[in-house]
Amino acid sequence: MTDFTDSSYVRDMAKTTENLYRHGWDERNGGNVSLRLTKEEVEAYAGTDKVLRQIPIKFDASELAGKYYLVTGTGRYFKNMVEFPDRDMGLIRISEVGNSVDLMWGFNDGGEPTSEFPAHLMSHIARLKKNPNQRVIMHCHPTNLVAMTFTIPLSSKRFSRTLWKMHPESIVVFPEGIGVIPYMCPGTNDIGEKTAAKMEDYRVVVWPHHGVFAAGDSLDETYGLVETVEKSALIYTTIQAQGGEILQSLTDQDFRDLIKRFDLNVNEDFLTPDAVTATVD
Ligand SMILES: [Zn+2]
Repeated sequence: MTDFTDSSYVRDMAKTTENLYRHGWDERNGGNVSLRLTKEEVEAYAGTDKVLRQIPIKFDASELAGKYYLVTGTGRYFKNMVEFPDRDMGLIRISEVGNSVDLMWGFNDGGEPTSEFPAHLMSHIARLKKNPNQRVIMHCHPTNLVAMTFTIPLSSKRFSRTLWKMHPESIVVFPEGIGVIPYMCPGTNDIGEKTAAKMEDYRVVVWPHHGVFAAGDSLDETYGLVETVEKSALIYTTIQAQGGEILQSLTDQDFRDLIKRFDLNVNEDFLTPDAVTATVD
């Protein structure tokens, strides 16, 4: 049997975190990713049948008891994951009582899951209710999207429509729009609860002045979702750098044409412009 270190899951996770780093979205120890694996996927690898140690978590995750997650470690640098995967990542199983995790592989220098792990688990719970294929939660700091949280009212509708208008692929890739929460202190259960509540309607939740939480079925899909949001944010930023005057843009009829062409399950509330609210909706 192959060692879990050589699995495609570890390789894909290391590749994804390196890409996030190279994009400039995860400076220093910024960012964290968790990937759900099935029991069968884990059992195919040697050494994953014994618990190395138990790690307490500050959240009741009993709803996820028995589920496995490959997760990045607290304080770890994404640029190092490729070289030190079994130090900077861990494979954990949620314990039956839900207040601790069993470490099955990794964190070999005594490390622990990301400090945002409760927010990840809450988001996994919310998304699994919507989509049984839910696998990934990804947190990172996409520069242009974060910059927009200083200049655009913190409204899910305002952000979604602005990004949709920047590129036709936006409404195709995130037809439900993106969610925005108020600024909150990271690393707390409060921000996790607020994020998970938004995850009931959106796969992308913006943390103002900080970054983004994204969900998806695979690492590639989730990464691609963030990439698409950030590409539109970059176009928006570039327009501002060119003076900000918009002479022509995608119209609401263009949205209708895209919805018809790609058979999109779009957020109807966001299709019509209305009075801009200056507060989080
Ligand atoms: Zn962060």
